Amino acid sequence: MTSSMVLEKPIENPTGTGSDPSSLPKRKLIVARAAGYCFGVRRAIEMAQSTRERFEGRVTTLGKLIHNPQEIARLQEKGIEASDRLTTIKGGAIVLSAHGVPPSIPREAREQGLRVVDTTCPFVTKVHRAAVKLFQEGYQILLVGDAGHTEIIGIIGAVEEVGGKVTRISLPEEVESLVLGKKVGIISQTTQTAALYGAIVAEVSKRVREVKAINTICGATDELQSAAVDMAQRCDVAIVVGGKMSANTRRLRDLCEKQGISAYHIETPDEIREDWLFGKETVGITAGASTPDWLIEDTARRLYGGNLPEDWNLTHPDA
Ligand code: SF4
Repeated sequence: MTSSMVLEKPIENPTGTGSDPSSLPKRKLIVARAAGYCFGVRRAIEMAQSTRERFEGRVTTLGKLIHNPQEIARLQEKGIEASDRLTTIKGGAIVLSAHGVPPSIPREAREQGLRVVDTTCPFVTKVHRAAVKLFQEGYQILLVGDAGHTEIIGIIGAVEEVGGKVTRISLPEEVESLVLGKKVGIISQTTQTAALYGAIVAEVSKRVREVKAINTICGATDELQSAAVDMAQRCDVAIVVGGKMSANTRRLRDLCEKQGISAYHIETPDEIREDWLFGKETVGITAGASTPDWLIEDTARRLYGGNLPEDWNLTHPDA
């Protein structure tokens, strides 16, 4: 159920411009019924924190643990460093991302004498397994996803580890130029939209007789997206909180905008501009799967005049 609350206080004027705030219209604040941390990201943060508490040596994440600079900064303050290269980590424990890594990474880390904390989300592990199985069954593998994304690199690495190959694709229009065999297996990055995945499967099916489509989109992604659409249909403007590099946050913003309203992607509440809200009676808030609760709550406070509404109820996706 979507939580909603009526703004009893006028929105503070974040830009510091304008007239008497009490003259601003009362607005309704709607929080998407699911917003913020998914199961996998929450688990990764908890594993990293618990390693920090129990382990005396250095704790370093390989790359960014999640796509949220503010939470990464908070972890750094707690003594959890980040490094882009395995070779520059000089000892201690290495924490691997929830999005997964190629199998060569934990192997090399252990060879380097590092203690490995693998936070790969179980749903991402399932994609690795599905991809390897498709290869072993003789399918040419198409992977729907964003170029260079950590999860994509991990999936490709898992298939290459067993001698296979993966073709990554991000748009249905790209299918035409692909050289396709007789048997094609199609999987997806966990955070893609079902509509895009379905469109690519449909295109491939026009050209290939045997298509095995395994929908590996994560339930959390679906839930965040459908909750964002539902929220956007009930508000005049949407504020979408999440890292600027977070692909799933960007998709939430796009989906909100597709519902015919203005939608703004912010990392922190300081970015909210009063002119976005001018004349809008209902403000919706949602957040990507890597956005910590404290940032969503700070945003709500900003929109609600400094306090959280009494009936504030932030619910995460089930998966
Ligand atoms: S979006 Fe889904 S697959 Fe990705 S980390 Fe979260 S729960 Fe796991």
